[in-house]
Amino acid sequence: MSVTDRRTELVGSLARVEERISAACAAAGRKREEVTLIVVTKTYPASDVRLLAELGVRHVAENRDQDAAPKSAECAGLPLTWHFVGQLQTNKVRSVVAYSDIVQSVDRTKLVGALSTAAVRAGRELGCLVQVALDAESGEAGGRGGVAPAEVPALADAIADAEGLRVKGLMTVAPLAGPYAGRQRAAFEHLMEISSSLRGRHPAANMVSAGMSTDLEEAVLAGATHVRVGTAVLGVRPGLR
Ligand SMILES: *Cc1c(COP(=O)(O)O)cnc(C)c1O
Repeated sequence: MSVTDRRTELVGSLARVEERISAACAAAGRKREEVTLIVVTKTYPASDVRLLAELGVRHVAENRDQDAAPKSAECAGLPLTWHFVGQLQTNKVRSVVAYSDIVQSVDRTKLVGALSTAAVRAGRELGCLVQVALDAESGEAGGRGGVAPAEVPALADAIADAEGLRVKGLMTVAPLAGPYAGRQRAAFEHLMEISSSLRGRHPAANMVSAGMSTDLEEAVLAGATHVRVGTAVLGVRPGLR
């Protein structure tokens, strides 16, 4: 497909997503500015990221360092905030910290230590979200990453105490299993409760990242501040990851 055709396609899909976010904000009695669109560009090329930036997108997200590192390098200089949303191994942290502004998938104290060391070494301040697994019991990890709700305060405190890191809020992916399976609205409302108690301890940690292509309305209705949308903007990913 030519760049011009791709541009036309993205203009249309962005307009449809914008329409959905605006309608959900109106239904929730929220202002449109209260919700930030993050376009998840994983598996799509740097040329798409460039087009998105031209079309006014300011936030993009990636989930694999192997893809994100070269892509972000190709896109250096564009006015974009880069979010990392994938499960993160400590041996990738140094690379991820070089291009990410916010890591949304912080789910263990070992990772906090590694992120802090890398941020200090890079002379950067890194925003961190605690990833919550709404289907996980205390002590176990969520199938798609994340910590059990009961472990959020301790992990948030660890981030707040770590040099080079800022605790910015929470992220979740609607669970496929457990009591919230198929109940996105209830899942996101539970996340909002966890967010209110987090803000009691860390008032600036007011980001709530929830909602994807299929459930962004439920997230906006519940009170999410950031939605992460891939497929609905860029199309169905070749080879689902
Ligand atoms: C891929 C991904 C998304 C976007 O999912 P879509 O269904 O394509 O909108 C959002 N969040 C995370 C963590 C992802 O990995």
